[in-house]
Formats: sequence, C-alpha cells, structure tokens
Amino acid sequence: MNKDYIIEELKKQIKGISEEAEVQKVGEVLEVGDGVVKLTGLPDLMASEMVTFPDGTVGVALNLEEDQVGVMILGDYKGIKEGDQVTATGKILSIPVGEKMIGRVLNPLGQAIDGKGEVETKTNYPIEREAAGVIDRKSVDQPLQTGIKAIDALIPVGRGQRELIIGDRQTGKTAIAIDTIINQADQDMICVYVAIGQKESKIARIVAELEKRGAMEHTIIVTAGASESAAFSFIAPYAGTAIAEYFMDQGKDVLIVHDDLSKHAWAYRQISLILRRPPGREAYPGDIFYLHSRLLERSCRRNKEAGGGSITALPIIETQASDVSAYIPTNVISITDGQIYLETDLFYKGIRPALNVGLSVSRVGSAAQIKAMKKVAGTLRLDLAQFRELEAFAQFGSDLDDATKQKIERGKRTVEILKQGQYEPISVENQVAILYALTRGFVDEVSVDEITKWEEEFSKFMNVSHREILDEIKEKGEISEKLEGELKKAISEFKL
Ligand code: ATP
Ligand code: MG
Repeated sequence: MNKDYIIEELKKQIKGISEEAEVQKVGEVLEVGDGVVKLTGLPDLMASEMVTFPDGTVGVALNLEEDQVGVMILGDYKGIKEGDQVTATGKILSIPVGEKMIGRVLNPLGQAIDGKGEVETKTNYPIEREAAGVIDRKSVDQPLQTGIKAIDALIPVGRGQRELIIGDRQTGKTAIAIDTIINQADQDMICVYVAIGQKESKIARIVAELEKRGAMEHTIIVTAGASESAAFSFIAPYAGTAIAEYFMDQGKDVLIVHDDLSKHAWAYRQISLILRRPPGREAYPGDIFYLHSRLLERSCRRNKEAGGGSITALPIIETQASDVSAYIPTNVISITDGQIYLETDLFYKGIRPALNVGLSVSRVGSAAQIKAMKKVAGTLRLDLAQFRELEAFAQFGSDLDDATKQKIERGKRTVEILKQGQYEPISVENQVAILYALTRGFVDEVSVDEITKWEEEFSKFMNVSHREILDEIKEKGEISEKLEGELKKAISEFKL
C-alpha cells in the first residue's frame, strides 16, 4: 500500500479523534420546579439548545440569563435533583421529519403515538428556524380552496397566507379547519394539524373523522394533549412547522393548523411564571408577541428560485366573551393577513358557519381567487352589508318600495345559501354554479325555507346532467360568454 496514503489516512483519523475529544460542557442543577429546571455553569448555552440530565431526560434552554439558565423539561422531570450534572449538547432541539409521517399521529418530539409502530425517517429538522427572507418570497397568487362557501366566496385564502380563525369557545373554529383539511384531498396539499392542550378524547374524535373521510392520507397530526406537560404544548406548533418546512423545502404546498394559540400562550405563561420571569400584560411574558410572530412568519409562499412551495397557516385563537382587544388576540390579529371571525349569537341563530361577514377579512387572498369566483361573488359582500342595514330598517314595518323589498328577499336567500353543514365541503366549481344562480336572481322565486333543499337538488342536477359545465369552470377557472349562456340555460332547466 502507498505510504502517503497511509499517512493521509492516519492524519484523517487523528483529526477525527481530536474532534471527539472535545471538552464536554457541564453545568449543575440549581433548582427543580414544575416541569422546569434552573441551572448554572453553562454560560455558552444557545436558546432552544438541548441539554441532558444524568437519568437521560432531555431539556431545552428557554430563558438565558447572565448567571443561570431556565430549562424546560421534555417528559418526566421527577428523576432530576438539585446538584445533578447537566450536559450541553450544542444542538438546537430537532425532531425527525419525513414522508412516512403522513397519516400518522405524533407527539411534539416527532414520535408516533397512534400505536401503529415507529415512523421511519432519515432527516432531522430544528424546531426553530429563521423564516424565509423577503427575496425568497412571492406574493400569494394561488387559491387554497377551503370548500366552505362563505370563506371561498367572501374571505378567500391564498396559498402561503396566514389567516386567523377567531371566536369564543364552541363557535365552530375547529370545524372550519377540519373541513378545510378534508377538502384538500385532490388539491395537492399536505396538511399538518397541531392540537395544543386539547383533551385526548377530542383529538381521537378528530382523527376518527379525518380517517373516515380519507383525509388522513394527506394529513399529519401533531398533538400535545391536555394531560401532558406545558412544555409539550409549548413546542407543538414549532414541531408542526418544522414538519411543514420539510415538505415546503421539496417545493410542496402545505397547510398547517394551530389549534389553538391561546392555549400555546397559556403554556408559555405557565412555564415563564414557574421560572419567575417578570410577568407583563395579562401576566404573559413580554416576548410572547415576538414568539408568535416568529412562528407565523415561517408560513409563506416561496418563489421559484427559492424552490417554490408554501406553508399556509390557519392559527386559531379562542376569545373570552368576544373580546378581541385582549392581549393575545390583538397580537395574533396584527401578525396575520386577516381573520375569520366567528360569533356565538350567529351560531345559536343557526347561521353556521357562524361567520361575521362584516368583521372578517382576508387581506391578500382575493388576489388568488379564481376568475369565475370573482365574477359571481364580487358583489356578495356589499349585498350582505346592505341587507343587514335594510333588514334593521324594515323591522319598523314602514312601507318599503319594491327595490328595497327585493334586496331584502335576496339577502335572506344569500344568508341561507352561505349556511353549510360540518364535514360537507363543496368543490369550487359547484360553489360557482350555486352562487351564479343566487346572484343572477334565479333563486328569488324559491321560498327561503326551501333554499337548502334547492341547493342540494341543484348541485345533484348539475353534477349529473351538466358535469361538462362544472368541468370547464374547474379547468379554465373562468366563465366565458359561451359557458355563461350554457350555465344560464342549465339553471333555468332545473326545477325543484
Ligand atoms: P372549542 O372552543 O371547544 O374548541 P370550537 O370553536 O372549535 O370549540 P367546534 O368544536 O368546531 O367549535 O364546533 C362546536 C360544535 O358545533 C361541534 O359540536 C360541531 O359539531 C358543531 N358545528 C361546528 N360547525 C358546524 C356547522 N357548520 N354545522 C353544524 N354544526 C357545526
Ligand atoms: Mg376547537
């Protein structure tokens, strides 16, 4: 064998040895609290760096102070004692990511908890990563079809957008997110549903519903249950985003739902209070705004040069007594590109989804709406606003002129048409046909309480007898003059 070669080999190995022999950085546990530990002697620790304890438990550096560090414990902290040695790993907390995660239920460390065995992965991603810069981004120009008429028509969401779903408890927030996931089956979209601090029974029900509808085939669930530690709730949305980024890095479109960020903020507040960090407004630590903005900033649309791909985020916030001016709601409203605002009153009036059309907005999504939808839904928002005004006015029983009466009647039908049951997403071409009939006056003669039935029968009729019209809307995304003629003819053929 060549002598030089041997020397080279030896050199290489020596190099390897010197690296392995690097000094381990070791600190000491000062104090053990409820799921958190304070330690000293590790001045070089990075934020989100992993540390290990003698019993194998892993912690994450959270709060870096001058002479001590607050560490959040992942898992059971009961084996950790004061005076224990702590070893710094030099690594930011990372989780495994990969294709095989699709269809699985995972904890925030990327481990399967659905009893279907381990998930095979080849790569790890850090849970915190800097968001794509402005140069790598592109404005939103492709729709994300939620399948919910009121949203797709009035507050359209584009791929790469961050749209907040906000409302009191039990107003149908989760339902909107789940229906949107179900509707992605044929949309070339991977969905990540992050459940934060929710009851395990609730999550089991969601998984079962998604499975029943075949939606687990494009969905990953990341869950930190209510019975688990605050640390898990805290890292869940980051873990979900890391998984989403893995797919975005391959140029894919991903939808991520954070259900919900109110509970995420609570978890962070709890951890911070135990670490005795100075509480700020509503007792939340001062950096909660920065934390949420950094998280949501990672959802974006990348341009072609940066590999394409997108992450659309639907964060959810639960309000108390509709108070959107509380600290966390205002924060997240200001971070996102719009909000879907749900109201208890509407929910109990039977208007479901309980969407407040006046207060809901989408700041960027209309750029991504398909032309056909723009054409039929263009005046819908204004019509509804006018209707609400006139309706209030009409309650006084004054004589109304025909034009006003007509507007009120149309408004009533519009409200009916925008109602939609849970687990019943409607394809965009069907939505266009229905809204065309509505806005062009074809349902004015149908009585208000028969609208739901009309809609159902009409959809069936279109799918069976005029599939070619729907297909053309779907393919071309717009309604040509010729197609409009055919659509009109089809609608007038239909009788309930
Ligand atoms: P929580 O605050 O508990 O998380 P939430 O705001 O997420 O509640 P959901 O759990 O989505 O609300 O829905 C509350 C209830 O309303 C559920 O029983 C759900 O089945 C029902 N529901 C939601 N949307 C609709 C709808 N469009 N039509 C009929 N029922 C609905
Ligand atoms: Mg919910």
